[in-house]
Amino acid sequence: MSESVTNLPAEPAATSDFIRDIVAADLASGKHTHIHTRFPPEPNGYLHIGHAKSICLNFGIARQFGGTCNLRMDDTNPTKEDIEYVESIQADVHWLIGGWADDRLGLKPKGKTPDILTVKGQADFQLPAVTAGARDGLEPFYASDYFDQIYDYAVQLIRAGHAFVCDLSLEDMEKFRGTPDRPGTNSPFRERSVAENLDLFARMKAGEFPDGARTLRSKIDMASPNIWLRDPVIYRIRHVEHHHTGGKWCLYPMYDFAHCLSDYIEGITHSICTLEFEVHRPLYDWILNSLGLPRSLPRQIEFARLNLGYTVMSKRKLMQLVEEKLVTGWDDPRLPTISGLRRRGVPASALRTFAATIGVTKFNALTDVAVLEHAIRTELNATSQRRLAVLRPLKVVLTNLAAGEVIEFEAVNNPEDPAAGTRKIPFTRELYIEQEDFMEVAPPKYFRLRPGGDVRLKYACIIHCDEIVKDATGQVVEVRCTADLESRAGGVNAARKVKGTIHWVSAAQSVAAEVRLYDRLFTEEEPEQGGRDFKSVLNAHSLEVVQARLEPSLADAPAETRYQFERLGYFWPDPKDSQPGRPVFARTITLKDTWVKVAGKA
Ligand code: ATP
Ligand code: MG
Repeated sequence: MSESVTNLPAEPAATSDFIRDIVAADLASGKHTHIHTRFPPEPNGYLHIGHAKSICLNFGIARQFGGTCNLRMDDTNPTKEDIEYVESIQADVHWLIGGWADDRLGLKPKGKTPDILTVKGQADFQLPAVTAGARDGLEPFYASDYFDQIYDYAVQLIRAGHAFVCDLSLEDMEKFRGTPDRPGTNSPFRERSVAENLDLFARMKAGEFPDGARTLRSKIDMASPNIWLRDPVIYRIRHVEHHHTGGKWCLYPMYDFAHCLSDYIEGITHSICTLEFEVHRPLYDWILNSLGLPRSLPRQIEFARLNLGYTVMSKRKLMQLVEEKLVTGWDDPRLPTISGLRRRGVPASALRTFAATIGVTKFNALTDVAVLEHAIRTELNATSQRRLAVLRPLKVVLTNLAAGEVIEFEAVNNPEDPAAGTRKIPFTRELYIEQEDFMEVAPPKYFRLRPGGDVRLKYACIIHCDEIVKDATGQVVEVRCTADLESRAGGVNAARKVKGTIHWVSAAQSVAAEVRLYDRLFTEEEPEQGGRDFKSVLNAHSLEVVQARLEPSLADAPAETRYQFERLGYFWPDPKDSQPGRPVFARTITLKDTWVKVAGKA
């Protein structure tokens, strides 16, 4: 998907933060000459806006310091991973960094594996793709491509007396581990000879033992106050197919073992992750240091993950919403997934602006969803063409216009951008206005249309309500008015003032369209507060579908075009369901935050 970059507010230069300070210092001291970060999602779900924060940080650093950011599938757990996720992750990353940091994206030749024995500074595998064409023949890195090398490293650890094969069951291992304030107990298998360990480990690889029968554990310190250093498991037996390596392995490395080594193999300089990995850092460093590796080692740095109000973010919970069909799929526009936000019409640049705005810290906090909404509105206000649309139509008949008479009024396309020009909109005897812009019995401060009252129709003229028509149930179905055509721009009554201005479309010359009005998915800012089941606070009104009427210029609205429907919000054609002649529009966001009022917040 391409993003128009004309008239966009300049993307804020990321202000410095503690991670960028470290990177700058490492360049200044000569510790590194080329900065290499990575974005390492596990392909077990779709990416969400929290991942977007990490993508913007890692690619933003590569961009700012002239470095590279590898896209790596962190695929060491075969049971939950799938090729569908690999593909969606690639699409989402390309979309999010497209036109911004594509030239920083580190990919590798398809089917090849970086070989640490022959790679000289990874030159072969730093292949920034500047154009889409240059990406042909390239693919992301896969941690699973390193399974042979990681296995060899494990053998090296065994030889050095730093790892042993353990026969304890999971439950027993649990008992031996101790608690944070009580040291653990050594495994009875800890003192196996190197020869026996090597033999057993090879037989584990050969498939001689069932799942769970044995593990390979690092030999560190069962009394360490850091539980992650109490001889953690680094390999386990899993007789399952892997989406990338097929049936080759029945022995898989644990995340902690595979991750630091994948970083090392790819020549990553700064391995940026979220705060929960802070307690794993001593293990990250221990593994790399225990192997006596020749090249410079990556440094792990942690930052606070994004938590956003009125939504849930973990893949497990998003998966639950998708699988239980509480949303229409991973790209449901109400989800905080990147594909959902994209389908809803949120521009990639607005997400990047949001990421730059929230910055990077070491403190976990809840980000107000208003910050995200502000970034979206600011950009759409600057870039969207204005159009007239009526979501819930009420018929107005202008009795002083002849049937078939058409007056064309000129409307401004974007007051924020004079270059966007103007267009003509047809004005006819029968119009539609918004049901809520008419009240039969109106309170004193109601400045829209009421019996005997006047209102201005935007870009057109003032109308006066003479009469109402009701159906058998008492419902107002038609409002009969007189148009003061001289109150139009340039008319003799042009200076006539009324208090209200409303939008409208011609009845005959408008297009019917389904419009999907999205709202927050949850009614509570923290859906899981106090251990509550997040599904118990789903917003029953998070999707409302209306049959609207749009001004005729929207009949064949080009895909990927964002509009402001005046007085209503920002909309675009749904990329999946909108068709020529049968438009389906999605509301990206309202004009103003209506939620604040409802939630009773100031
Ligand atoms: P989840 O908890 O949603 O399942 P995860 O951490 O398991 O996410 P990964 O695929 O492992 O997902 O994440 C890839 C990268 O994105 C990691 O470096 C992780 O730290 C980062 N990341 C994940 N969630 C967030 C978040 N909410 N804010 C910032 N970064 C995040
Ligand atoms: Mg993870």
